[in-house]
Amino acid sequence: MSHDQGCVTRFAPSPTGDLHIGGARTALFCWALARREGGVFVLRVEDTDAARSSDASARAIMRDLAWLGIDWDEGPEFAANGRTLGGDPRSIGPFFQSERRALYDAYLRQLLDAGLAYPAFDTPAELAAMRAAAEAEKRTFVYRRPEDAVAGDALARMESDPHVIRLRVPDEAVAIRDEVLGDVEVAAGEIEDFVIRKADGMPTYHFACVVDDELMGVTRVLRGQEHLTNTAKHVCLQTVLRRLDGGARFATPRYAHLPLIFNDSGAKMSKRERDKVVREAVAKAGVDEPPAGTVDRRAFDAWKRDKKRQLGHAELGALADALALDLPEVGVRDFEAAGYLPETIVNFVALLGFTPSKDGGEDRERFDAGFLAGDFELSRVGRSNARFDRKKLLAFSTDDITTMEPGAFAKRLESWCAAFRPDVLDALDADRRALLFGAVQGQSKTLKEAAERCGFALASLDDIAYDDKAVKKWLLKRGAEGLGVLGALRPALAAQDEWSVDALQALCEAQAADTGLGVGMGGVAQPLRVALTGAAVSPGIAQTLAVLGRDEVLARIDRCLATVGAEHTGA
Ligand code: GLU
Repeated sequence: MSHDQGCVTRFAPSPTGDLHIGGARTALFCWALARREGGVFVLRVEDTDAARSSDASARAIMRDLAWLGIDWDEGPEFAANGRTLGGDPRSIGPFFQSERRALYDAYLRQLLDAGLAYPAFDTPAELAAMRAAAEAEKRTFVYRRPEDAVAGDALARMESDPHVIRLRVPDEAVAIRDEVLGDVEVAAGEIEDFVIRKADGMPTYHFACVVDDELMGVTRVLRGQEHLTNTAKHVCLQTVLRRLDGGARFATPRYAHLPLIFNDSGAKMSKRERDKVVREAVAKAGVDEPPAGTVDRRAFDAWKRDKKRQLGHAELGALADALALDLPEVGVRDFEAAGYLPETIVNFVALLGFTPSKDGGEDRERFDAGFLAGDFELSRVGRSNARFDRKKLLAFSTDDITTMEPGAFAKRLESWCAAFRPDVLDALDADRRALLFGAVQGQSKTLKEAAERCGFALASLDDIAYDDKAVKKWLLKRGAEGLGVLGALRPALAAQDEWSVDALQALCEAQAADTGLGVGMGGVAQPLRVALTGAAVSPGIAQTLAVLGRDEVLARIDRCLATVGAEHTGA
């Protein structure tokens, strides 16, 4: 396929886990470049590592991309948001590499026949010995091509003996033209004869990637800087493959390597971070046995013994819940579960390396995917490491949540709750839900926080725990002034006919203005909050009252007067 059909980018995840936030950025930039250039964005699943790949992970990655609004034009078909993403109008599929083996094998055969690749029969033990010898001599191990590498005998032996296939790497320097990093040159002799087909018959990542980039007509490759050494191998492979048919195919696409992403503490953003947080908490609390329903005992012990081992996503989550830990988010799904909006994540992630054009001379930070699709250029992508600033993400999120149109917010919160907090929906009828969602919006930094702020309305009477500090400050100070306020409010609330936000607000204001009480609005609202929710923070007091309903309000006041009041007089 020639590279003249315009811009074709691809995102090529290995389905060995969830979509990492760094992967999301790569996908977003590939998408944005294709949109900006009026090109095509392809999704390809690199599942050549049979042991570590899974369909479930491939589906989860597609789900996460769709959630972010990163829609692929070509690739596996996936139903999302009422339409089907992907498809194969150019007949370049299948898009799972595990289904493309015949294509790779055809090229491997040609390379073998042309003497440009050879089978290698070294056993794992022999390779380990070569590595050990190099280590003992303090030199880096470089695989040395056997003298008889491409001889006919070797090819014949392939039928019977386990082997890998290695590329006969030309003794030439490799030049990478990178659109972000500039020119990078790898000297002749630095790249060893690397493996292109594994012992299990599967192509390696390098080989499958290069063949597919060609067969899928990919013209632009964007990926993280950690792939730069791979790119040297890929450029080398393209050079060799071009020799097969006189240079008609395997033109080198244009490469761009995106900056690495570091977390607040300067370490690379990785899933390991989550594991570390749990590990430290387990050590600190001296947890010897896994809490019930979290992790299997043996897996837990093995994990504790071996610092390099990592627990699975679900196990880690269960342990974190049991230990009441908040894990740092690294996967897209983690951010979704933490209550971030996809548009917030898209905006934030785009800024990890990309600088938008100025807005009338002013720096612009907040923008949406549509803006990115129009503004994205590789000249705006920097080379220095990007910092994942969680405070900034939270500030973006707060801004997006609190300024959203209330109806839209309620819909988002509802679907978030359906996935992560169904109990919130189960406990509230439509009217109370609308009232409550409206009341928590202005106070919430994330959807998760908004759901938590709804918690007071779901609690049953006996579950309300009074916060000590709030009780002291708002109920017991100055001769239990707050308890007195509650006592005075109770009959007023019992006699209140109209139970609407406006009427309840008016009632509270009237009580606050009542010279007999002499406490002001805070002096009315705060004791009420403590009685109704156990804490000094809740939505507006009139909303809080309205959501609970008269009977529940009176019951909660009575319970508070009985428990806190009794303790007070007893003390
Ligand atoms: N499957 C590779 C990865 O997930 C793709 C790298 C590339 O874009 O070539 O890291």
